[in-house]
Amino acid sequence: MKKETLCVHSGTCRDRETRGVNTPVFTSTSFEYLDAAHTVYPRYFNTPNQRAVVEKLCALESAEDGLVFGSGMAAISTVVLALLGSGDHAVLQEDIYGGTHHFVTSELERFGIGYTFVSNDASEIEKAVRDETRMIFIESPSNPLLKITDIRAVAETAKRNNIVTVIDNTFATPINQNPAELGIDLVIHSGTKYLGGHSDICCGAVVGGRTLIERIRNSAVNLGGSLNALDCYLLERSMKTLAVRVERQCRNARQIAESLQEHPKVKRVYYPGLKSHPGHETARTQMKGFGAVVSFEVDEGRTRPAEFIRRLRLIRPAVSLGGVESIICSPAATSHEKLSDEERAGLGITGSLLRLSVGIEDCEDLMADIEQALA
Ligand SMILES: *Cc1c(COP(=O)(O)O)cnc(C)c1O
Repeated sequence: MKKETLCVHSGTCRDRETRGVNTPVFTSTSFEYLDAAHTVYPRYFNTPNQRAVVEKLCALESAEDGLVFGSGMAAISTVVLALLGSGDHAVLQEDIYGGTHHFVTSELERFGIGYTFVSNDASEIEKAVRDETRMIFIESPSNPLLKITDIRAVAETAKRNNIVTVIDNTFATPINQNPAELGIDLVIHSGTKYLGGHSDICCGAVVGGRTLIERIRNSAVNLGGSLNALDCYLLERSMKTLAVRVERQCRNARQIAESLQEHPKVKRVYYPGLKSHPGHETARTQMKGFGAVVSFEVDEGRTRPAEFIRRLRLIRPAVSLGGVESIICSPAATSHEKLSDEERAGLGITGSLLRLSVGIEDCEDLMADIEQALA
């Protein structure tokens, strides 16, 4: 079945007694164990509400099994700590999510885990591989410049060297990109963004092959980052509209990107759907849609970025992304604030760069707001 249908139907755990059409919310943290095949407990990642969400995400990502967590970072840290140990080495894309970058640089050394950050170029990633490399961690499109990594090429490198591949697929969403079909082992989402989609739940997930997920589950039970029943229910409910939301968001984003590109007060637009984007050709081979984040640099000689943001009336200046409402932020002042000016310059993040997360509003209303604020 197609994505739209899977979003609505897959994973639903019907109540045989009432015959209601939705998964009921099972609030219990205590489950009877006599004659049970296995013990059910929220931290074991096996309650009905957790399973319903995982089944839906697996159907959308062509994966066998998965785990749902209390945040995207819980999913990321658990995957890394479950699969790597003292003496192991990981190769990571340098422009991965700031929280992941900070986790790696501030925690891994204590565990004796080595790491190398490289650009998103597949040949650079291959060159960084050592004998002790056990994991390659990528993110595409990346934040905030929407750089595109050649997913197939990275997966092939990893397979040749017997290395586990992990991708943070948050920006792409399972509607636009399915890395498991391109050879990636583990697909991670910050469900706080598009999967939740309403800026009201914090959650995360990893999906992949049964054997790897089982290995991760063994550590995940110890690390304890599972998601509670009520948020599982909200997430399941949100994901029913994932395909329609994302389709609309992508359509709005493309129109806004195209119009910004023509605007005299805008210096540069970053959107993988634009022919001018350096990753456009690769994106076309691995994405069905180009996502709903548009980054752009205003011409500082003609518009002060901070002033522009303050003058927006509809689009709110706020952190995070992926919700039904459009929001905007300055990466230099938020996600990349902790970096030095040189580090930011190295990553191509200037003070005039703005990241717009496009929502499901009427596109003309959004463009009119941008137009009046730029004016
Ligand atoms: C937000 C985000 C995360 C972290 O997710 P949390 O739910 O905030 O823990 C990880 N990766 C990407 C790409 C994100 O945007």
